[in-house]
Amino acid sequence: MSAGMVIIGGGQAAGWVAKTLRDSGYQGTISVISDEPWDFYERPPLSKRALLEADAPLSRLFSEEQQAALDLTWYRPLRAERIQRQQKSVLLSNGQSVPYDRLLIATGSRPRLPGREWQNHPRVHTLRSWHDALSLKSALADCRQLAVVGGGWIGLEIAASARSLGIAVTLYERQPRLCQRSVDAAVSQALLTLHQQQGVSIHCDCGEMRLAHQHGLPQISCDQVPLRSFDRVVVGVGVELNLELAQQAGLEVGNGIVIDDRGQTSDPAIYAVGDVARHPRFGFSLQSWAFAQNQAIATARALLDPAAPGYDEIPWLWSDQYGINMQILGLPQGQGKTVVRQQSDSTLWFRLGEDNCLQQLVSFNDARSIKLAKRWIGTQRPLDAQQLADPAFSLMTLR
Ligand code: NAP
Repeated sequence: MSAGMVIIGGGQAAGWVAKTLRDSGYQGTISVISDEPWDFYERPPLSKRALLEADAPLSRLFSEEQQAALDLTWYRPLRAERIQRQQKSVLLSNGQSVPYDRLLIATGSRPRLPGREWQNHPRVHTLRSWHDALSLKSALADCRQLAVVGGGWIGLEIAASARSLGIAVTLYERQPRLCQRSVDAAVSQALLTLHQQQGVSIHCDCGEMRLAHQHGLPQISCDQVPLRSFDRVVVGVGVELNLELAQQAGLEVGNGIVIDDRGQTSDPAIYAVGDVARHPRFGFSLQSWAFAQNQAIATARALLDPAAPGYDEIPWLWSDQYGINMQILGLPQGQGKTVVRQQSDSTLWFRLGEDNCLQQLVSFNDARSIKLAKRWIGTQRPLDAQQLADPAFSLMTLR
């Protein structure tokens, strides 16, 4: 009997591999090894709905009926300890071996911490899993002063949720500006203004963060700001990719598991999907919801059909903060300029390269323009900065 497909990981990318295999008619065994007890779930609600709604249910990726129809063989909650490439099997933390014909690594990432002393402090939180969200939610219930360390997407989304619960928030960011790695300076400034208007106290360029405690409360200090006590601290300073299994197995690894556009690693029987996979074009891990879903779907299709197209999508992410829908399409690369378009109830930031082609569009409350921009980036059409900046000029004429 064939050993079938084995997926290591129980997150969003893993879920989409399983679903796509079944939707494409695969009838063999699909085994899933997950260190969490839950069915597949989505992470975006963890920093929003899961914290704000009294009885928010698990943000399931698929309904219970859809999940049951996948007919999966679960190994959970268990850890994959080693990939045994010679035997084509995965050794589990309970000593069991799970054989595979094709293996998919979807091990994701784990939150980074500023230093060792931040680990295991009962009032210092990170947010990655459903369990983390439940624990943070109960911590916020009696929190009046919250420190958020890290001004990336996690930090900002948690700050926005905490403000809507009436909690005073102080945010520390090591870089000179917010979300520096993903957006231009003008967008960072808009994020800063928005959060300050909502009452968040923000310290950028904060230097090295230090954690102390007094009377059980965490205290934070940094080069720029004196020591202060908080009820709770949330850390969102980026992630470490869970690469250990791939490294031990001798797969090619560098800024993520090296894959081609069909998800295949340096071992033709092993594939990688989601955060842990290095983007085949950009050469780093993209860590976005859209990549986790669509690269996983493309990989599962490619597994069954040698003629299926490889993954080639423009990076896209979104965030919801204070009722504003933010969307980011594309990545800024090399030299360029930013053109701002201020409309009555929305704002767009166009990042143009030296050739006047669009590299990135950031929108606050204008999803329609993101759809247009997908085509402009895809076709590398040069754009006129003056037209883009003029709110009286209809972007629809550039369709
Ligand atoms: P992130 O986006 O990488 O932002 C972390 C920020 O914290 C960076 O600016 C980082 O600066 C800064 N930082 C690092 N060490 C610090 C320190 N010791 N003190 C203060 N600041 C420090 O990571 P994240 O917000 O933790 O999110 C984790 C991952 O989930 C990211 O890949 C993110 O894109 C993803 N995510 C996405 C969404 C969304 O799409 N809406 C929402 C949540 C999370 P350096 O650049 O110097 O390290």
